[in-house]
Amino acid sequence: MTGTGVHSGAPVSVILHPAAIDTGLRFLVTKRNRIIAEIPATVEHVKNLTLCTVIGNDDGVTVGTIEHLLSALRGLAVDNCIIEIDSKEVPIMDGSAAPFVDLIDEAGIRELQAPRRYIKVLKPVRVQEGESYGELLPHAGFHVDVEIDFPTPLIGNQRVAFEMSPGVFRHEIAKARTFGFMSDVERLWKAGLALGANLSNTVAIGDDKVMNPEGLRFPQEFVRHKMLDAVGDLALAGKPLLAAFRSVKGGHRLNSLVVQALLADKDAWTVATVPHVRETKHVDMHFAVAAGE
Ligand SMILES: [Zn+2]
Repeated sequence: MTGTGVHSGAPVSVILHPAAIDTGLRFLVTKRNRIIAEIPATVEHVKNLTLCTVIGNDDGVTVGTIEHLLSALRGLAVDNCIIEIDSKEVPIMDGSAAPFVDLIDEAGIRELQAPRRYIKVLKPVRVQEGESYGELLPHAGFHVDVEIDFPTPLIGNQRVAFEMSPGVFRHEIAKARTFGFMSDVERLWKAGLALGANLSNTVAIGDDKVMNPEGLRFPQEFVRHKMLDAVGDLALAGKPLLAAFRSVKGGHRLNSLVVQALLADKDAWTVATVPHVRETKHVDMHFAVAAGE
């Protein structure tokens, strides 16, 4: 895929390569067709979480805005992939994970001849900062529950919760776009950020209305996007989680801190395998109805 970095405004291309068992999700950074770094998408490599998730190595090579692509990979249960990228930022595409999902669907996913390994959460892990918190609880699947609260009536309090599966991710989460406030734009531009942001890749929130002529793609698109971000940030654990995640007024920083807190406590998790159950259309329907709005 080719596109533009939302912060740099620079053109970038990304190639997703098949990868062997236990590769995990890894970025291969190139410059003028030469490999300059290989950076695993894990929480130890996180360098910055101010507006997006940035990972890097000790030589100062970084890749930013990785969360929507990681979310698509984790959301579709892709555990092993080499992500070749020729710039410092994953392209923003339409601000959601849907373009990545479409391309992965087009390429197809191959099941490898090995049991799928998970990080199984054994006891609650919580990180709290004021009114915001994120927590992981023991759970036999991957349940994600996200709540946000913004003072503007255009957003207000929103909460969604899903038992996550590729079907639920595809139908309920992948299309939710990133959003930003018009009142922040000038400040960000002065700081050299969000230079590539526009109405084709961001839901822009004005004083009393959404500025995008097409409006919203979902009711509660904002909190669904926060869930999309959380799925991507939790992918930095390095393996899929068997856990229930709950986030209240959180964001990239808190999501990463929860993963760090989990991995730092050796009594809080173990690596487990579970028998593979192939998802069926019936399961998709069931989840979609159960989630109903
Ligand atoms: Zn996002």
